[in-house]
Amino acid sequence: MKGEGDCLFKPCLLEEGQAVAALREILDWFVVPFPKGARVGVKVHWGERGNRSHLPPFFTREIVRWLKGGGFEPFVFDTTVLYSGGRRKGEEALETARRHGFSPGALGCPVTVADGLDGLAVVDIPAGWRHFPTVQVADVFSAGGFVVLSHFKGHMAAGFGGAIKNLSMGFASRAQKQRMHADARPFLNRGACTRCGLCVRVCPSGAAVMEGEDYPSFDDGLCIGCAQCIGLCPEAALRIFWETDNGVFQEKLVETAAAVWRLMEGKAVFINALLRVTAECDCLPGENPVIAPDRGLLGGYHPVAVDRESLRIVGEEVFEGAHPGLSWRRQFTYASEIGFLPR
Ligand code: SF4
Ligand code: SF4
Repeated sequence: MKGEGDCLFKPCLLEEGQAVAALREILDWFVVPFPKGARVGVKVHWGERGNRSHLPPFFTREIVRWLKGGGFEPFVFDTTVLYSGGRRKGEEALETARRHGFSPGALGCPVTVADGLDGLAVVDIPAGWRHFPTVQVADVFSAGGFVVLSHFKGHMAAGFGGAIKNLSMGFASRAQKQRMHADARPFLNRGACTRCGLCVRVCPSGAAVMEGEDYPSFDDGLCIGCAQCIGLCPEAALRIFWETDNGVFQEKLVETAAAVWRLMEGKAVFINALLRVTAECDCLPGENPVIAPDRGLLGGYHPVAVDRESLRIVGEEVFEGAHPGLSWRRQFTYASEIGFLPR
């Protein structure tokens, strides 16, 4: 293997021919860290149902082809989510994957929901930092290696989302996702609200209610902090109110990623796609505004190194502009404090 902090950047646009060529160069650059013949998990995000900004399936298909060519046994996976939509239950998630072109037939390998169709295929793994003694994640670590493919983009709570977030929220069980989101609550700007009721319809916990013609209200006791109402409000009338502060969320995100990393260090590679960089993540349906030009693909061996380099290439100001006030830099300072850094 090369140094854990090494990265390779290949410029390209989001056009299949040149994007696949750039991806192939990165894949061929990797010193493959998987044991001979291993089952290798390809972690992807196939997008919320109806989302149109997620990475197209041709990236995953090429990774699968590369793994098979190397004699490995690939499988593609993601996990279920907290909110209603098309990925809360395992069967729904697989149907969403199929609709977005991530079916076994299209990709050439099994496609799975790693926390199980019932959400119970999870395991508690040691953490031991400030927030979590253990974290609960999908039980996927019998795999001999991992390729983690992340769409690098903005995020309403994390500021940006890349490899760290994909290891963290992306591997977390629904309970662990909830533990990370626990401090987030919706805050209503009545001046912008049209009382359309969408926030009530999408709330998975019954916390958002509307009585008659009144404005929506939100029950803190029932709210699980999933932020779905905030992300889907058509008038941007809701924003996140942090019961502690956003830095705590960033720390929880990093702790979960660091715990997952300890189980895959030395047998994982990371690819960030700095393409169609949107303001929000692919967990929202529909089109999201693009906030930066296409840059290309970045490969590496450590999630913190890959995300740091992705931010440098895309430009920190892009995320400061899209999500002012979020303390996303805490991801890096906290990663350093807990020793979650390339060797
Ligand atoms: S979705 Fe937004 S605009 Fe519609 S009722 Fe809720 S807060 Fe108001
Ligand atoms: S009120 Fe809470 S639980 Fe309901 S959608 Fe909003 S953030 Fe999620």
